[in-house]
Order: sequence, then structure tokens, then C-alpha cells
Amino acid sequence: MTSTTPPAPRPRTALVVEDERTINDALAQRLRAEGYVVEQAFDGPSAVERAAAVRPDVVLLDVMLPGFDGLEVCRRVQAARPVPVLMLTARDDEADVLVGLGVGADDYLTKPFSMREVVARVSALLRRVERAAALADERPATLEVGGVRIDPGSRRTTVAGEAVHLTPTEFDLLLCLARAPGQVLSRERLLRDVWDWGDAWASASASRTVDSHVKALRSKVGASRIRTVHGVGYALEDLA
Ligand code: CA
Repeated sequence: MTSTTPPAPRPRTALVVEDERTINDALAQRLRAEGYVVEQAFDGPSAVERAAAVRPDVVLLDVMLPGFDGLEVCRRVQAARPVPVLMLTARDDEADVLVGLGVGADDYLTKPFSMREVVARVSALLRRVERAAALADERPATLEVGGVRIDPGSRRTTVAGEAVHLTPTEFDLLLCLARAPGQVLSRERLLRDVWDWGDAWASASASRTVDSHVKALRSKVGASRIRTVHGVGYALEDLA
């Protein structure tokens, strides 16, 4: 039996940053049950210190923290080394603000959340990152749509020759739209292809996630380049 068992995948390390101990412990306990190695931090400075020491595969990050807040933690951690971040927000509209700030969080989850949802979002985030890494290894061809140039290998973007800094999620979203120029992609399709969420996540807050990131992407590549089809989805326009 043992000879046919595939090797166990390397356990992933998650850093849970949350000052409310009961929430932090509940997250840690659930993630450990799912096979993650879990580190915990309860304030901003120790979160940055733990991230440098353990080099986690993913960070779950509360916004309101003692010391300095989750945004500052996200900036400092991302500056040292890119790592996927799932931000835990108190309100739905807080995610909009955070996306606009472009602090580099890859996903947002509004409290209160179910542990099942957290686990699903963390594993979707890790799948996305691993898929992006595999794509970078393939050195795929650069895409150009109406003056927007996207290099999936180096993950660099230019608009009319000017370099544009995109967060990992914004880049993946733009790449997905650019693969079907002019075509309207539904929010459900974007959630599946960009966020790797199953149909179970086609909720109001999931649609909001797409809308927030499109809004942020628009502000960087030019609003007219991304067409909204109300109630349906979005298309990247091949502007002359
Ligand atoms: Ca807090």
C-alpha cells in the first residue's frame, strides 16, 4: 500500500495576524486541522518580525491591530518578499478602500466569516500563486491589446509605453481580460479564472470583490479601456 501512496505535499505555512485571541486561535486551530503549519502574531510589529523569521506561504491579516495596522504590515511584508495576503476586514466597504490603496493584499474577507470560507479562500489563493509561478516558468508570449502590453513571464505591464504597477490580483485580472479582447467576461467567469473560486462563491460579496478590483485596475490602465456591461461583466477594449 505505502509504495503506491503519492508523496505527501509539503505542508504550507500560514501566518495568522489578529489581535483578538479567540479569533486568532480559532483560525489557527482550523488551519492546523487542514494540514497547515501555523504561526500566530497579535500585533503589527511582531507580525512583520514573524513573517521575516518563518517566511510563510500565506498571511491572514486583520486590518485593525495594535502597534501599526494591517496595511502597514502588508506593505512591510510585501516589500521584503512577495507573499499572498488574505486581508480580514470589518466591513464590506472597507475592502473597496483597501483595494484602492493598492497595498498588495490579494484577497479580502469580511467579518464575520465561516471557517470553511477562510479555508477555501486560503487554498484558492495558494493555487493562484502556484499557477502564476508555473506560468512564469513557461515564458509565454507578451500580449498587446490597444496599447496595453502585458508580459506574463515577468508580470510587467505598460500602458502606451509607460510602466504601470499592478498588484498580483490586478495583473491576473488584466491578463484574463486581455486573453479575450473585446469579449465580455462575466463576474462568475472572472471569479473562477482569476480568483479560482468555485460556483459556491458566486455571492454578492464575491461580485463586489470583482468590482473593487476592476475599479482599481481602471484607475491604473485608463477607465475607457475596460467596458462595463451592467449586470453581466467586463471587457478589455482594443482601443486604437
Ligand atoms: Ca483587530
